[in-house]
Amino acid sequence: MDIKSFKGLVAVHGTPTLFLYETRLRECYQQLHAALPGVVLYYAVKSNATPELISILSDEDSCFDVCTNGEIDIVKGCGVTPDRCIHTHPIKRDTDITYALQYGVTTFVADNEHELSKFVPYKDRVRILIRMSIQNPGCLVNLSHKFGVAPEKTWALIRKAYKLGLDIAGISFHAGSQNENALKYIEALEYCRDIYRKAALRGIIFDTIDIGGGFPISYLTPVIPMVQFCQPINEYLDRFFSNYTIIAEPGRVLSGPSMLLATRVMGKSLRNGVWWYYLDDGMYGSFSGKMYDHADYPMFVGREGPRHTSVLAGPTCDSIDVIYENISLPRLEIGDLLIFESMGAYTSASASNFNGFPRAKIVLVN
Ligand SMILES: *Cc1c(COP(=O)(O)O)cnc(C)c1O
Repeated sequence: MDIKSFKGLVAVHGTPTLFLYETRLRECYQQLHAALPGVVLYYAVKSNATPELISILSDEDSCFDVCTNGEIDIVKGCGVTPDRCIHTHPIKRDTDITYALQYGVTTFVADNEHELSKFVPYKDRVRILIRMSIQNPGCLVNLSHKFGVAPEKTWALIRKAYKLGLDIAGISFHAGSQNENALKYIEALEYCRDIYRKAALRGIIFDTIDIGGGFPISYLTPVIPMVQFCQPINEYLDRFFSNYTIIAEPGRVLSGPSMLLATRVMGKSLRNGVWWYYLDDGMYGSFSGKMYDHADYPMFVGREGPRHTSVLAGPTCDSIDVIYENISLPRLEIGDLLIFESMGAYTSASASNFNGFPRAKIVLVN
């Protein structure tokens, strides 16, 4: 990023603003696509549902992972056709299923028998991915805490689905978000291999395997390049799943690096010997990811000089709205610009306008 041109953008658009860098987003997509050759990428809309971002990914030929009627409306509004979408919410109401079907989405996810029964009336029109859980306490967000059938119970569930006459496409899993351990994918694939073999022996034919999302990005510490990260996954897939359609549901790795946040100091106060700086974005806004996603973002402060223990707080009147306590910063002035990187995933997506502070606006930079 060129700081001078960035300041020019901020001068035009004000703060708080999330700048969406089109070239960076395209690069992220192309890098992942190159790192997972032959894998069809379904962007997880929940990580960032900004229409401009969806449209750019759609232009890159991405497919989309949607979970709700609202997400369907968004991708539909961006001209994405339903054959490029899968519905991955493991728990749905009948109206959610019919809404997706009406649009033309036909691949769904289930992780228990109650959910499977809901598809019986539509069994000639749907394909089901069985979501298997993979515990990963080591990553930022464990996406198997709430959903997924245990690996040792997956085969029994598949048999139930088969008995109900449902078309099972294969297994899906999520190895944990911001998962820096590629072997977690292999662990999950090992379970799948066993189940796919059992199924084939009994004449149950799967054609798809869904390796989910979870691919990590650089926050405060850099991660290895995607090509390197994905190498063991590719080797395993080549060896044991070469006859299947392989799909993935990347969210963070595509949306995360694509946005920078510009925020300004709107006030400051020396309280008990500690400098408090109040920013125009906070925990109820773009930094909601600090709370829900447990992420920590690289920060740039355009000042130098002796550092002091400081606090960075958000703008609202609530005491929980503190972004960093005990952070060492040079003396800041009111109006100073602070820039945060890797702010594209699970940030604005979970922001609110609590206390009357609007969400950061989103500006596309091409
Ligand atoms: C959130 C989610 C994703 C995206 O995960 P990332 O870690 O952001 O890549 C993919 N699939 C499902 C089912 C999800 O819930």
